[in-house]
Amino acid sequence: MSGPSGAGKGTLIQRLLPIFPWVGTAISATTRPMREGEVDGRHYHFLAEDEFVRRIAAGDFLEHVHYAGRRYGTLRSELNRIRAEGRCPLVEIELQGARAMRADMPDAFAVFIAPPSIEALRARLEDRGTDDAAVIEERMRISAVELAARDEFDAVIVNDDVDTAASELARAVAAACGREGAQGG
Ligand code: 5GP
Repeated sequence: MSGPSGAGKGTLIQRLLPIFPWVGTAISATTRPMREGEVDGRHYHFLAEDEFVRRIAAGDFLEHVHYAGRRYGTLRSELNRIRAEGRCPLVEIELQGARAMRADMPDAFAVFIAPPSIEALRARLEDRGTDDAAVIEERMRISAVELAARDEFDAVIVNDDVDTAASELARAVAAACGREGAQGG
């Protein structure tokens, strides 16, 4: 799953998980500071820069990127853990990482979450209140590039009304993975 920061990917994933117990979210590693309410090992594995670099050298990442001045990466161990549980891994990832993963795993289902408008995106980032003005500007700049790439994805879901977007996502995931939801979703 990809899409601009503030498009609502996190909220939609939280809606999806109770419907699809066979989906497991891969916990990424990042060097960005922890936000209020975030828990290390649950929202991300929060790593210091030198630890992240050491793990790149160790070959621990399937992909890793620089995004808004910080590092983010998908850990091989996360996908292995989820597969070992007999579940299907879901990764939430920015555009460069999504492209890299798709090159490696052409069968993966790639879904793009789009905001209803660029103005709505800015409003959400500002309302979230977790990033300072410079970071919001940088995220907005990256978002414009990401939005232009939406057609590369297997499905695009516009997150205007969250209930509608969540059911569209559930339908798309069920169809792509050929599996049903726990509540018939
Ligand atoms: P945030 O700082 O808002 O949590 O995430 C910033 C961006 O990084 C989001 O677009 C998110 O999807 C992306 N991201 C999170 N984890 C990873 C990862 O493991 N790899 C890549 N390439 N992007 C990630």
